[in-house]
Amino acid sequence: MKKITIAKGDGIGPEIMDAVLDIFHAAQVPLEYETIEIGEKVYLNGHASGISSSSWDSILNNKILLKAPITTPQGGGYKSLNVTMRKALGLFANIRPTQSYFPFVASNFPKMNVVIVRENEEDLYAGIEHQQTDEVVQCLKLISRPGSEKIIRYAFEYAKKYGRKKVTCFSKDNIMKQTDGLFHQIFKEIAAEYPEIQSNHMIIDIGAARLAAKPESFDVIVTSNLYGDIVSDIAAEVAGSVGLAGSVNIGTSCAMFEAIHGSAPDIAGQDKANPSGLLQAAIAMLFHLGLADEASKIQNAWLKTIEDGIHTPDIYNEATSKQLVGTKGFAQAIIANLGQNPTQLQPITPPKDAVISIPITTPKKPKVKSLVGVDIFVHQANRNADTLALQLQQATHEAGIQLKMITNRGVKVWPNGLEETFCTDHWRCRFEWTSQSNGNYQEVVSLLQTLYSNQIDVIKTENLYAFDGVPMYSMGQGQ
Ligand code: NAD
Repeated sequence: MKKITIAKGDGIGPEIMDAVLDIFHAAQVPLEYETIEIGEKVYLNGHASGISSSSWDSILNNKILLKAPITTPQGGGYKSLNVTMRKALGLFANIRPTQSYFPFVASNFPKMNVVIVRENEEDLYAGIEHQQTDEVVQCLKLISRPGSEKIIRYAFEYAKKYGRKKVTCFSKDNIMKQTDGLFHQIFKEIAAEYPEIQSNHMIIDIGAARLAAKPESFDVIVTSNLYGDIVSDIAAEVAGSVGLAGSVNIGTSCAMFEAIHGSAPDIAGQDKANPSGLLQAAIAMLFHLGLADEASKIQNAWLKTIEDGIHTPDIYNEATSKQLVGTKGFAQAIIANLGQNPTQLQPITPPKDAVISIPITTPKKPKVKSLVGVDIFVHQANRNADTLALQLQQATHEAGIQLKMITNRGVKVWPNGLEETFCTDHWRCRFEWTSQSNGNYQEVVSLLQTLYSNQIDVIKTENLYAFDGVPMYSMGQGQ
């Protein structure tokens, strides 16, 4: 019998996991369970990552994790275990279907049925943050070509497998031309390989607003990590409740299945939590494992229970609900409905094979990369750009590299900055090669030595490169 790893988590986690396991037991799902402890207790016992090495071993052996939500203690430098797991296990795709169950669950959008395909490994969730000056902290946004190709291709393959008609890309490439620009560019390249599926792109702000106001106009949405996190909660809430949505985290060898909501400490231990989100994730897991009969039987019993108006408090509504139940009562009602199909909601049509495989991306031919200058970031409390420029020019007047521009939080403040621009203590000083320079890294090193000996507080450098002769770095705003 296939063995999977389960984690009961924190808050409402144990209650909703027990409800799911009771339903699995009643449906005679042929699985064995290995339970691991993760989350708050493990963090507080001294594991800064929230998981012990034996728990990692269990997941790596079994390859499948059904996980209830966990609580990440606030402060204290604890890293989110959810993010660590998704990244460490290479779970690159996070699939979050959200659907309206109108009229049985109140929703303004009876026909809504949207799948969010969220990139899961990179973007701002790389978690690379630094305090650089007294006033400024930074977080690096990393978007890669292979990471974007994998998730976007997955979205189109998902659409193909499940008969979906349209894939919409959300990005903010009008502002982040390099990072979100790359994601959008790759979306256009891959969309061209799937002419049978409609594709379009929306700027994330209007996209999120439309998703909240007209969710029925979306089918599959693919987007990067942070935007996906936000819009999938919007979609779930608009569909009826965050308590109804499950999420599937897929990698090439491992997979993790969880509810999209958190550990809901406000209702923990009160038999009020809706176990549907974790159950939806668990049903997707059964499809993934090829247990389509069991998955369909449970899903249809769940739909029938929703249709019968047997509801937990989060979705209970006097107009459409018939019986208010707790977590346990809801699980018992599903068990009583095993073998029955819904009569009004659409029963599930099992996919022939739920596993989506995408080709391994082949790296593109490397471009010719040339160093054309350097951005040197400087910490200076004096808020005067002209003074800093003079100091830098005096220090570097003999170097084969020349100060071109200074920005503060991205806005050009030298030369010819505006008095109105507010400056912090964090300055980006752009140097470019002069005609006498050799254009090599040694010149950057000499420049740094010169600045250091002139007591300039350099906090970081960023090389400026052209790829195949095209400058690939952002201009200053106002440059
Ligand atoms: P939350 O999702 O736990 O709760 C938000 C609201 O939704 C609360 O009012 C809660 O009662 C309600 N709710 C959530 N799930 C429900 C369910 N199944 N049935 C009925 N009502 C439900 O979000 P939060 O309060 O922001 O976070 C609480 C904790 O969960 C934090 O420690 C956070 O870090 C953690 N969290 C964990 C995960 C995860 O493990 N995947 C995800 C998000 C948040």
